[in-house]
Amino acid sequence: MILVFLSWNSLYAQIIGSCGTDAAANLDIRNRMMANREDPQLSVYRSGGTIYVPVTYWLSAKNDGTGRARYINCLINLCAINELYKDQGIQFYIKSINDLNNSFIYDDPSSQFGAAAIINIHKKNLNAINIFVASKANGSSPGVLAFYSPNDDYIVSDLNYVNSNGTTLGHEIGHYFSLAHTFFGWEADTYDCTVPTPLEHFLNGQRVLVEYVDRAKQYSSNKLHCNVAADGFCDTPADYNLGFGFNGCKYSGCAKDPDDVPLDPDEANIMSYFLNCLKYFSQEQKDAIARDYASSKRNYLKTPVQTALPEVTEAPKNATIVSDGFNSVTFKWDAVPNATYYILEYAQVSLSNAATYKTFLLKRTDTTLTNLNKGIKYAWRVTAFNATSLCPKSTNPITFTNSNFGVATQDHENNISGASVTSLGNTYYLIDVSASSSQILRFEVFNLDGRLVHEEDLQLSAGFNQFIRSMDQNGIYTYRLRNKDQSYSGKLFAY
Ligand SMILES: [Zn+2]
Repeated sequence: MILVFLSWNSLYAQIIGSCGTDAAANLDIRNRMMANREDPQLSVYRSGGTIYVPVTYWLSAKNDGTGRARYINCLINLCAINELYKDQGIQFYIKSINDLNNSFIYDDPSSQFGAAAIINIHKKNLNAINIFVASKANGSSPGVLAFYSPNDDYIVSDLNYVNSNGTTLGHEIGHYFSLAHTFFGWEADTYDCTVPTPLEHFLNGQRVLVEYVDRAKQYSSNKLHCNVAADGFCDTPADYNLGFGFNGCKYSGCAKDPDDVPLDPDEANIMSYFLNCLKYFSQEQKDAIARDYASSKRNYLKTPVQTALPEVTEAPKNATIVSDGFNSVTFKWDAVPNATYYILEYAQVSLSNAATYKTFLLKRTDTTLTNLNKGIKYAWRVTAFNATSLCPKSTNPITFTNSNFGVATQDHENNISGASVTSLGNTYYLIDVSASSSQILRFEVFNLDGRLVHEEDLQLSAGFNQFIRSMDQNGIYTYRLRNKDQSYSGKLFAY
């Protein structure tokens, strides 16, 4: 059976797709919520102001660096998600935006190697909610827009849904914080008015009760049925995945509960599938989020404590280019009060020109390019932000025609860091390395006799890079990674 369909609404288009967090995953998620709720240590009351929760976007691209989502879209997306969480005192801040060049992840983050690479990165970077952005969320289920993996605790998104509609990833972050679908139990089961409504579903051998409309219905002498059935919340009305295929925000279908009472689902609940209608979480859902945040498994989100940085209120001023008339163009602008980062974007003719679009994440207020194409019109803009003030403040696009030149940044050092090689089995292994700038890194593998058995040049882009390779034969090898300034070496086990 095809899992679930939903259409996430955006300002201009209705999009059809699904959340890939399936019934089995929702069972794990709901069980965690219930365990948190039973834990007297996890008070939902807290004093003080807004909690700032770190988010890292891992923007994957093909091995050659092409196809990546735009940095600016991370700001637009998290700004929209923050609107959805504002009323519960939660705001997400940008821990980092990282490049990740790995075709396995980019082409299919749900594939064996894609998922293995993601899990490896996630485990080494347990300091934020890790969102992995790829060309699609699941290569074998093209309708999946995004999902949360409860086993491994990361989120994956199709790059097209890192956008100004925060509900796609706001919903996945809801899963991350222990919220099941309001229609939990019906992910893989289509409600049919012509057959009696079942009393329960079975998932992985566990019974999941079907929810009734009546909020006062008792499950036992001291427990309400709505506290035990489906998502476990009494303030999210019974929903049998009625958003699927329903056009509109006021459900008028024929669904009835096992007592024959017509259903009246909450179409605006973010954990439902009325995707054109999503607006809010219920109070019990918010309490569950607060408990999950308070739980020890979320400790990695809490240190260092992030507080609100002073707000960035304006776009950069005096954005201008300076040409030396020979081979370089310097883009520069005035520092914006409170901004700690700038996103510089440019492309030929227009910023919508994806084929020539380039972008840089900068801490400085200028950058120099030395090989723009000659006689070509370029459009560019710059955006200011800081970690907690991230709704983008951008200049309008500025255009100029380049008289003389051709593309590379300068003013960067060649530092590499965090290099490691990890075996994946079947003689495959993973090379991780962070670079301060795009550069070529020499990779060499030697057998135990010291004979060179493999060599290649790895093309690194600035940020985090990852490569998957395999050896022809099992064995123990040594490897070396080097540029002109640095060298890393270690053992490599191919098995
Ligand atoms: Zn979902």
